[in-house]
Amino acid sequence: MPRPLKLSARAEALQPSLTLAIAARAKSLKAEGRDICSLSAGEPDFDTPAFIREAAAQALESGLTRYGPAAGEPALREAIAQKLTKENHVPTSAGDVLVTNGGKQALYNLFQVLLEPGDELLLPAPYWLSYPEMARLAGASVRFITSSAAEGFRLDPERLEAAITPASKLLVLNSPGNPTGMVLSRSDLEAIAEVLRRHPQVAVVCDEIYEFLLAPGHSHHSFAAVAPDLADRVFTVNGFAKGWAMTGWRIGWLAGNSAALKAASALQSQSTSNVCTFAQYGALAAVTGSRECIQTMAAQFSHRRELLSDGLQAIEGVQLLPPQGAFYAFPNISSTGLDSMTFCERLLDEQGLAVVPGGAFGDNDCIRLSCAASDATIQDGLARLQRFIETL
Ligand code: PLP
Repeated sequence: MPRPLKLSARAEALQPSLTLAIAARAKSLKAEGRDICSLSAGEPDFDTPAFIREAAAQALESGLTRYGPAAGEPALREAIAQKLTKENHVPTSAGDVLVTNGGKQALYNLFQVLLEPGDELLLPAPYWLSYPEMARLAGASVRFITSSAAEGFRLDPERLEAAITPASKLLVLNSPGNPTGMVLSRSDLEAIAEVLRRHPQVAVVCDEIYEFLLAPGHSHHSFAAVAPDLADRVFTVNGFAKGWAMTGWRIGWLAGNSAALKAASALQSQSTSNVCTFAQYGALAAVTGSRECIQTMAAQFSHRRELLSDGLQAIEGVQLLPPQGAFYAFPNISSTGLDSMTFCERLLDEQGLAVVPGGAFGDNDCIRLSCAASDATIQDGLARLQRFIETL
């Protein structure tokens, strides 16, 4: 009998991404012929704008098919530095930008170079589900700072202050946020900065991947611009996936403190090396190009966000704090008496609607629905949800 292969404790402890698992289950049910409606997607349903595709195709045709610098093509690093400096008011030089395989690798690399056993990640909850897993992979523990819909899902500065210990090493800010759609205002960020000034051991990573997807009346502020005195311990993570509809391209970036960026770049050079060379030229066209394509898609998302929010608010038994950005809604379904996992499993089995259980994001009373779908799909999903709740 062959002995079972012994995996590392690190691998044994790892949780696979539940959002990807739900999407896969919905796909396989569909392949079996079931009538499935999915509001579980975490990606825009638009095609990447043509001028970006053309720039990458041209780079490919012109032979940009070889290894490049591990930290990214110099022209793209420079363009991202310019974007941060001009658009986000975060003065950045090209040397302090690392081009990564999506925002995910930017976060992964940063956690690896900053966190170690004994350190704590400070994580406002509900949270995007990869943060805790990445922190644990780096050997750190996670201290959750919870807020409810009644508190606007905002990070309360007093609760932040109370959560900080000498082991606290890194705070995650994600605005606009996944899964809640919460947007931190300038005054929210100022209050957070005030707390952090008293705790010099705590660095901050701002995940700004949904930067361009805002409901009318809301604006995006980069924390590094609001608190320039803290710039040396503030990292910015962003990418092309959501704003430019480039999820499959796998291009993001990490910017901030030179020493940490150097370490993250060395890590990347020993693990994945550079992001696909010709794809980086598509990203270069995107970041240096007009923002018109983003505005068009963002307007569509605003319309759909409203459609989804209004529909959810009209369903008895569902409580929703309307999202202010990103493309999700995170309603509370606790009045049904079901936990989020049971709710989602039964919803998929009984009504063929795929959504993601809030338990995956640290709130078992909620479910996450995506509005990255057509109006017809959103309306169909809302009707299935209503039917399901009526049967309970
Ligand atoms: N950060 C948040 C909050 C996300 O929701 C996602 C993707 O869903 C990412 C980062 C990762 O994005 P990317 O596709 O650029 O790796």
